[in-house]
Amino acid sequence: MCHELGHFVLGHSGKYFTELRGKSDSVKEREANIFSATVLMPDIVLLSKIFYRQDSFQKVKNDLAVSQEALIYRLINLFNHYFFDKESKIKDVVYDYYYGFNQRILFYFEKMSKSIIKEYKATKCNIYDRML
Ligand SMILES: [Zn+2]
Repeated sequence: MCHELGHFVLGHSGKYFTELRGKSDSVKEREANIFSATVLMPDIVLLSKIFYRQDSFQKVKNDLAVSQEALIYRLINLFNHYFFDKESKIKDVVYDYYYGFNQRILFYFEKMSKSIIKEYKATKCNIYDRML
């Protein structure tokens, strides 16, 4: 549902709402996937659960009610955004975490934490102010 909402918010044409599963290679499909992953798994929430609480992959997946693929995809995208490491290295870090080894992902989150928190504080606003 969030993926479909992404097509709507991003202004994609109507045919994307009725597409069959499996056709996920187009740019617009990727955009809708990134939109829904960002809404369902905000970086501040991932930082809190994975870095500060040190929750397991399974716990994060269950708490956020997302699929295993969606969480892996989101983490790879997040790290691609912050680091210039090779995609293969980033995937290793994410799969380490998936298999219960969290040392390298904690290091990644430690390096990102200040910037995630800063961004979060900068975008915080009172929605009621905008309605006046
Ligand atoms: Zn779609």
